[in-house]
Amino acid sequence: MVEELNPFKIAQVQLGQAAELMKLDREAHQILGEPLRTFIFNIPVKMRDTRTRVFTGFLVHYNDARGPCKGGIRFHPEETLDTVKALASWMTWKTALADLPFGGGKGGIVCDTKKLNELELENLSRGYIRAAAKFMGPYTDILAPDVYTNPQIMAWMVDEYSEIMGRNEFAAATGKPLEVWGSQGRNDSTAMGAMYVMREAAKHVKINPKTATVAIQGFGNAGNFAFMLSKKMFGSRVVAVSDSQGAIYSKNGLDYKKVVEAKERRHTVQAYPDAQKITNEELLALDVDVLIPAAMENQVTKSNADNVKAKILLELANGPVTPEADKILAERKVFDLPDFLVNAGGVIGSYFEWLQNISGYYWKADEVYRKLDEIMTRSFRDVMERQAEYTKAGKHISTRTAAYTISVDRVAKAMKYRGWY
Ligand code: NAD
Repeated sequence: MVEELNPFKIAQVQLGQAAELMKLDREAHQILGEPLRTFIFNIPVKMRDTRTRVFTGFLVHYNDARGPCKGGIRFHPEETLDTVKALASWMTWKTALADLPFGGGKGGIVCDTKKLNELELENLSRGYIRAAAKFMGPYTDILAPDVYTNPQIMAWMVDEYSEIMGRNEFAAATGKPLEVWGSQGRNDSTAMGAMYVMREAAKHVKINPKTATVAIQGFGNAGNFAFMLSKKMFGSRVVAVSDSQGAIYSKNGLDYKKVVEAKERRHTVQAYPDAQKITNEELLALDVDVLIPAAMENQVTKSNADNVKAKILLELANGPVTPEADKILAERKVFDLPDFLVNAGGVIGSYFEWLQNISGYYWKADEVYRKLDEIMTRSFRDVMERQAEYTKAGKHISTRTAAYTISVDRVAKAMKYRGWY
């Protein structure tokens, strides 16, 4: 049978597994199985040659029973509505697992940022906000950066939204530059959160993170900081890293600065001077202690899960492991930690930024990291405890399903109290 790779169908399968296990009410399952609201925009953009090109944009409000929708916006040539729906559903479970007063949402534009100049990118970002303004805002849907979007894009988006509203609305998007009221620690909060989970996971499987070897797929915001922080915080040896063009490997460990230089100079990590060039597929199969997929969905599937040799799989990307691969990894006793636990640091950092924006009181970086650590560690322990409870009852479930049962339970209870079913 052909493996299902549609991310939204995968998200529905994952929800179904948890719903069955926890005997979720049929009505609650029906509401949670689809987004509450889905928007598709036609975005006209003036290009450098003064011609207008029309882009397609999406905005999905998956569920807001616990608070305003929250999620990143992606600019990607292969963006689809189903990817955005899947990411919006995972945001719902992510904010619920971290117990933030948010729901889940996500946005996206089908575009190739590598083919746009700075002005076109700005026009496109502002065009998206003009289309989405009625459906977003600090108490409706708060945007954030994701794949191929960044703090500058968030600043343009907040500016356009403020223009439309006739007042400054800094809390309409998070992940902004500090000068327009971003938060200390937000730029590395996703990877930092993952490091706190790595620390706890290492204790769990009795690995010393100081001597651990690490392989990271992806060298964007998430992967870059994960590389830097795993060295800085634990002294781990990062032996491999990749980007969309391929991977590099060095048994003795890669030098972070040299990877950054290679990326800056030649736009690919493969320009690193003295490492072996390998493929992304080979990176996933390396014999390392910790494997960190930090790029895209569907990287570990039924066709390569058998090759994974890592002891800990830290899902920093969203949706990197398919349900079929989940089963294989469990059989092979890989300690696989789910995306919406591992990468929650980003949205937790965003929550802190939003709190600071609406209160007008700004925190120091160490306060941000301390609070982030508290939430990440608590979430990790909640998931471990939930899994242990099921094991005690004779049911062996994955950490992903354990996490789902916590989140779904919280969202379903909020919907119940609000009288949605
Ligand atoms: P990014 O755009 O900064 O970087 C993406 C990286 O992945 C780039 O290095 C790119 O070259 C690489 N890549 C793309 N396609 C690839 C492929 N087929 N194989 C190998 N590498 C490939 O994006 P990001 O913000 O770092 O996000 C990466 C993942 O982390 C995504 O799944 C995203 O949803 C998730 N995430 C990010 C954040 C955040 O705060 N940035 C928060 C939560 C989750």
